[in-house]
This record gives sequence, structure tokens and C-alpha cells, in this order.
Amino acid sequence: MQPLLVDIKRGSLEDGPGIRSVVFFKGCPLRCVFCHSPETQDHRVEIGFSVRRCVRCGACAEICPSQAIDMSFSGRIHRSKCNRCGACAEVCPGGGLNRIGTYYSPEELCEILLRDIAYYHHSNGGVTLSGGECTLHPDYLESLLILLKNHGIHIAIQTSGYFDYRSFRKKVLPYCDLVYIDVKFADPRLHKLHTGKSNRRILSNFRTLLREKRVEVHPRTPLIPGITASYRNLYAIAQLAWEAGANDVALMPYNPMGFEMASNLGRPKPQLPEEFMTPEEEKSVKEMFDGIIARLSPKSTL
Ligand code: SF4
Ligand code: SF4
Repeated sequence: MQPLLVDIKRGSLEDGPGIRSVVFFKGCPLRCVFCHSPETQDHRVEIGFSVRRCVRCGACAEICPSQAIDMSFSGRIHRSKCNRCGACAEVCPGGGLNRIGTYYSPEELCEILLRDIAYYHHSNGGVTLSGGECTLHPDYLESLLILLKNHGIHIAIQTSGYFDYRSFRKKVLPYCDLVYIDVKFADPRLHKLHTGKSNRRILSNFRTLLREKRVEVHPRTPLIPGITASYRNLYAIAQLAWEAGANDVALMPYNPMGFEMASNLGRPKPQLPEEFMTPEEEKSVKEMFDGIIARLSPKSTL
């Protein structure tokens, strides 16, 4: 399976040390109900439709070979008829339709990423591979990372933690400097309920990464109101991270930005708040977490 990319973000200051380019792979084994980038879940090409950008010219309906476009339907595309050919997006004049998912060979991608090499070196930055789940493609990553490492590029990986450890260890880990791994829930039942998969493999990978100490490892927990941001869940995560030997757990701010994209892709909007947490709400959760850490161990470095 050839990996598709959703985006390459240049000049990021948020995805690891220094100035970075971030590569978003398409395809993820999880289906988190709170996903802030739903366009990265399906590994296939997708067509997004934004009603706000549609000028109702009808060019898409005219060119569609599958009669999947219905101008009287608010979602515009009958997804069951669509073969994802992308012809409609090519003729759309206003960006109402977008083809999501592009293939680059490792050499092509490396060439794009190296355009910012001066920024990486001057800022102690580098490249971050993200998703979706980039580790679904260990052979591709190995080829890409060998090319990047030939130029001394610092590599970070952002992962859900749901990967095959053996191939990750053999093909990806030797070229990584830093791994950000999501620990969303401690309870396997809650993990399965809200992400579609148990967390058994994720926690095992998390513990093994920390035990082997081959790379810097940073666990991260996304704050989802009423779902992950509870005292019970955060307490259990702090406890398991501390027992595994982690030095920190980063609490990631709630991000509802992906909900519009979910509806652009013809999926139901998640039944979650559409607003960001207020600074006060975020501060209060972080204080609660600090209290948990202090309670777990006054000497903890978490
Ligand atoms: S991607 Fe192709 S089949 Fe699907 S709606 Fe567009 S033109 Fe029609
Ligand atoms: S081609 Fe684009 S702008 Fe024209 S009707 Fe289709 S979605 Fe709307």
C-alpha cells in the first residue's frame, strides 16, 4: 500500500524542537470520536465538499462519470456512488471540492523537506512525521529517513502508539530522535469505546519504548471535555506513565477544528463542544493534573 499524504506543513514551531516541517500521512488504525484531523483517518483518497465555497456553477455535476453529484443535496456528493476519481475537484473553480491525498516517492518528499534545511540547522529543528498514523508504512519511512539522516536532519515521530513494535524497532526507530506517543485513556474499555481499538498494544509499546531507552519519549494526552479530561482518567494515566518511567505527560489543548472537516467528508459531526476550552478551563485541568502528580509522589519528576 502506497502511503498518501494529506499535507506538508513548513515552518512549524509546535511539533517538536526548533523550526520543523511536519508531514501528515493519511490512514490511521484508530477512529477517535474527537479526532481533530478526520481527513487523515481513511488511507484512501477522499473528496471534501465545503458548502461555503461552492458557487453552484454545476461544473462538478457535469463532469462526474458516476452521477454521484446532486446539486439539490446539501452534502453534494452521494458517497456510495463516488469512485474517488477527483475529476470534480479539478474543475471546481472556487475550492468547494478538494481531492485529499497525494503520493510522493521518498525521494520527492525528501527533496521538498530539504528545502528548509537551513532553518532546521539554525534553530535545532528538523522534520516531524505525523498523521494519521505514519508508522503504518515502515518500509516507506525507512527509505525516507535514511535519505534525511544522510543530511543530519533531526527526526520526530507523532504516533497513536498503535503499531507493530518489531517492524517499528527495525525500520523506524534507528533513525528517530524523538517519539511523541498518545496515551489517551488508561482504561482499555474506554479506549475501545472512544477510539475503536483497545489500548493494550499502545501501552505495551509505550512501556517498551521507555524501557529500551533508545530514543527520547514524550507521552501526550489530548484534553477532551467529558471524555479524557476527567480526574479518574488523568490520575490513571499519570500513574501508569510514572510507573513506566516517563519524565512528563503533556496535556494537549482541546481542538474542535476538525468537526467541520468531518461534515465536509460526509460524516456525522461529533457530539462534542464546538468551542475551544477557555484559558480558565484549561488552567483548572492542568492544576488538577499537577495535584495528581503531587499526590502520586512528592518526588515525582512528572
Ligand atoms: S470524485 Fe469522481 S466520482 Fe466522486 S463525485 Fe467527484 S467526479 Fe464524481
Ligand atoms: S464545481 Fe465547485 S463551485 Fe461548482 S457547483 Fe461543484 S462544488 Fe460548487
